[in-house]
Amino acid sequence: MNKQYKCNIILDLLPLYTDGMTSDVTDAVIEEHLKECEKCRQAYEDMSGEINLGLQQKKRRKRRRLRYKKKSVGRMVLLGYFLLLLLIMALCVLDVVLFL
Ligand SMILES: [Zn+2]
Repeated sequence: MNKQYKCNIILDLLPLYTDGMTSDVTDAVIEEHLKECEKCRQAYEDMSGEINLGLQQKKRRKRRRLRYKKKSVGRMVLLGYFLLLLLIMALCVLDVVLFL
């Protein structure tokens, strides 16, 4: 097979390959080609680098969401304390009113 022709096919398949959507046979062909073709290997590294970046962004977003969740839990606890304090104060006022 003509090398340029093969490169075009490999480059077409690379997105699927990096997503793990290709069959074992296709994986083997792509890996074999990447070993001997600098251009396609470079394209693959660029592509998988982008994917890793995407994953990192996703992780960062998830971490931010978790942090937000923690903050809102803290707010809920504070609100709980505040309500408890209000209840105690109300009971005290009620006590005073009842004992007068
Ligand atoms: Zn190639």
